[in-house]
Amino acid sequence: MRIIILGGGPCGLGAAWRLKELGHRDWLLCEKNSHWGGLSASFQDEEGFWWDIGGHVLFSHYAYFDEVMDRLLGKEEGWLFHKRNAQVWMQERFIPYPMQNHIHHLPKDIYWECLEGIIDIQQNARDRQPAHFKEWILATFGKGVAKYFLLPYNFKVWAWPPEQMDWSWVGERVAPADLKEILKKAVLGDGKKDSWGPNAFFRFPRFGGTGNIWRTLAEKLPAECMALHKECESISLRRREIRFTDGSAESYDALVSTVPLTSLFPRISDTDPAYGISARELKYSSAYIIGLGLRGNPPPHLADKCWIYFPENNCPFYRVTVFSNYSPHNVADIQSQWSLMLEVSESPAKKVNREQITGDVIAGAVNTGLIKDTKEISHTWQCFVKNAYPTPGRGRNAVLFPLLNYLEENSIYSRGRFGAWRYEVANMDHSFMQGVESVNRLLTDGEELSLWYPQIVNSAHPSGRKR
Ligand SMILES: Cc1cc2nc3c(=O)[nH]c(=O)nc-3n(C[C@H](O)[C@H](O)[C@H](O)COP(=O)(O)OP(=O)(O)OC[C@H]3O[C@@H](n4cnc5c(N)ncnc54)[C@H](O)[C@@H]3O)c2cc1C
Repeated sequence: MRIIILGGGPCGLGAAWRLKELGHRDWLLCEKNSHWGGLSASFQDEEGFWWDIGGHVLFSHYAYFDEVMDRLLGKEEGWLFHKRNAQVWMQERFIPYPMQNHIHHLPKDIYWECLEGIIDIQQNARDRQPAHFKEWILATFGKGVAKYFLLPYNFKVWAWPPEQMDWSWVGERVAPADLKEILKKAVLGDGKKDSWGPNAFFRFPRFGGTGNIWRTLAEKLPAECMALHKECESISLRRREIRFTDGSAESYDALVSTVPLTSLFPRISDTDPAYGISARELKYSSAYIIGLGLRGNPPPHLADKCWIYFPENNCPFYRVTVFSNYSPHNVADIQSQWSLMLEVSESPAKKVNREQITGDVIAGAVNTGLIKDTKEISHTWQCFVKNAYPTPGRGRNAVLFPLLNYLEENSIYSRGRFGAWRYEVANMDHSFMQGVESVNRLLTDGEELSLWYPQIVNSAHPSGRKR
């Protein structure tokens, strides 16, 4: 069986890794860029600072994935291990994450509004399923938390109004509001830091940013099966043939594609146009990632933070990572330098002024106290990502599943963050495993748990028993 893989991000590399492991020989991985890693790549700028494409932290739901990571960078030596310290900056103060469990840090009147909302929802049991994400937020957290944090924050991060989004993806990604816990914290204090959620503990490569994982993995694969600068231009379903922009062609028995579905369909020359039209209904958001290289050392209020959420409109970014806290090697000289990475979302429902974005982000960083003065900035780095978040829009699955099934009937296994378009299984571990599982399916008749059963996969807590 000749297998072609399109895309050298974690999913495509996962497929390639598994093919090598199973001893399969007839395969080729084609990546359009000059580097491996896709959205999980990292870049070193001219000043010697490393940048990820937005804050990437590694956590996993799979024992198999963990073993691969250990083999790549070692069990200990290649990594720095972190306990999450994430906070929300709102009402001119830091609130520990998840915000909904720490509302006693808010000004008294807002604290009461949030508490009252939570009490109201406990007293009024839901009589029907929420119709969309906004209704779900209101029904699950009450009016106050929705008004001050979850509604503005979710619009900022997703770039789509929450009423246009579904809520069934939420699963492990949003902490429930636990009234007893909230009151306990209010009466007795915060206690130990919250370890809710899958990313409470994470690891980060000591050197070379997140991309180091994927560069290292690519080096361990057979060079003759790996091609950079190889961009798929068109696909014929009937002939099972791919044409590349360099003029070459490859035929396949099975194609594992990690190309975003919205870009894949226009490349298929002999498909019913209705499928392409349908694929265009899938929503996504883009992101601007701005890196600030900074002189000196982080101020005390940022010295121990991992990342911070920003729900308010005093800055354009939704999240900021204190990237030099992940590894001292993310900057050239940790004694005299530090770095921040700031993320701004964009969609047709939330426009961004491209020309002004860096200036706006810097103004926001001053406004929110991240930096005192622009003189602290030694240099900036910028990257635009067209496909950043696969939006779980309302009615997504009704569009998505027929597309995935149709492709499979034509021997195309569309997988990964934008190949499968399922945010609930679109992190690095999920994407890598979708690649692995697609090969298991092709060669060993294995089940593709990650793609089709996200709830089962995500029920394995990263610090507990794994799949
Ligand atoms: C802002 C942000 C923050 C994130 N944070 C985290 C995090 O903290 N933890 C985590 O686990 N994950 C995180 N992720 C998700 C992570 O980046 C993805 O899970 C992962 O990169 C998806 O891998 P993939 O291979 O499916 O897709 P991609 O990484 O998108 O790779 C697809 C590849 O296909 C290539 N390609 C596209 N078109 C063609 C073509 N026509 N021909 C050939 N090649 C083509 C692309 O160049 C790319 O290399 C984050 C993502 C973003 C955007």
